[in-house]
Amino acid sequence: MTIPFHKPYITEAEVDAVAGVIRSGWLTMGPKTVEFEESFRARVGASQAVAVSSATAALHLALIAAEVGEGDEVIVPAMTFAASAEVVLYRGARVVMADIERDTHLLDAGLLEGRIGPRTRAIMPVHYGGMPCDMDPVMDLARRHGLVIIEDAAHSLPARYKEKEVGVIGDLTCFSFYATKTLAAGEGGMITTENSEWADRLRSLRLHGIGRDAWKRYSSEGSWAYDVLETGYKYNMTDIAAAIGMEQLKKLDWMNERRAEIATSYDRAFSGHDAFIPYGVRAERSSARHLYPLRLNLDALSIDRARFIAGLKERGVGASVHFIPLYRFTQYAKMGFAAADYPSCEWVFERELSLPIYPGMETDEIERVIEAVLDLAKTFKR
Ligand SMILES: *Cc1c(COP(=O)(O)O)cnc(C)c1O
Repeated sequence: MTIPFHKPYITEAEVDAVAGVIRSGWLTMGPKTVEFEESFRARVGASQAVAVSSATAALHLALIAAEVGEGDEVIVPAMTFAASAEVVLYRGARVVMADIERDTHLLDAGLLEGRIGPRTRAIMPVHYGGMPCDMDPVMDLARRHGLVIIEDAAHSLPARYKEKEVGVIGDLTCFSFYATKTLAAGEGGMITTENSEWADRLRSLRLHGIGRDAWKRYSSEGSWAYDVLETGYKYNMTDIAAAIGMEQLKKLDWMNERRAEIATSYDRAFSGHDAFIPYGVRAERSSARHLYPLRLNLDALSIDRARFIAGLKERGVGASVHFIPLYRFTQYAKMGFAAADYPSCEWVFERELSLPIYPGMETDEIERVIEAVLDLAKTFKR
């Protein structure tokens, strides 16, 4: 039996919760979504939480709230998922890519100042794999240059930077509940912010720009009358997704502990082995452990990263790569982005693969992953 790269942790509790919503007759955004927003808001400690249909939608709306528009520039790490940058382009704004720290794959705060220009409006730190970026220098830069910080927290629930929970650090924080993320609702996203005016606008923008609590118009409390305030989107969450989200939220801490235990097992097995280059440690941060990045020491191996992943597959272990840097895609290459400007992204891209890490992994499955990795390292020792 192959160990898949990912499996969501879904129990009968989620199945029952979904059945309950379907039986209630209210399928789209409604009371469950409001309940999920409130629980999520309280969990993170934010003043406002706005549920949407995906993190991509969340990031798009966050850019609108931050008034990022035509000709503005947004700094995004080159090592991220396509969604982080495409939303900038939705706004007619320019993507400015930044290189990363080699040991953590996170935005290199030291390189940021050099990317800031007169049109820079926002920075989008991506908390790669669940590990928060070094937010103190990022927030300091933002204050000095009048920039908005929009965090791509698609990987980082729950995560902490110093004493702060991810969700209360930047100006707007965007989470994902996509099927593979640490809280899986199938599809879904959340924006947290301390700014209640932004939150009101986000609530309107997610549903056609209609005035507050538009969804209520189909309930007994609602009426037929509504106003459209501005061009909005169809980005609402559904109560079906919110019901799954509510159940997942209840076991968030347990799922995070399970991920941490798996990561510790991997760390123990691979640390000190010369076929691998250890991932960075930052004692003042706690990671959501969405990913377990393994970095190959290519000098100690006779095979490259692609052949290492193929070898894992032959041994019944699924693996993946996070990420293909943005400038490697045709779209961004056409815009003039080139690998030579992002040496650390290239360095990571050549060496990184992500191992299975999910709460439902059994002890013998963790052992099998470790055995397969160590067997490959031995078989292809240079
Ligand atoms: C998954 C992901 C997103 C997009 O999340 P969706 O909810 O699928 O829109 C954005 N950024 C990063 C870094 C991601 O991994």
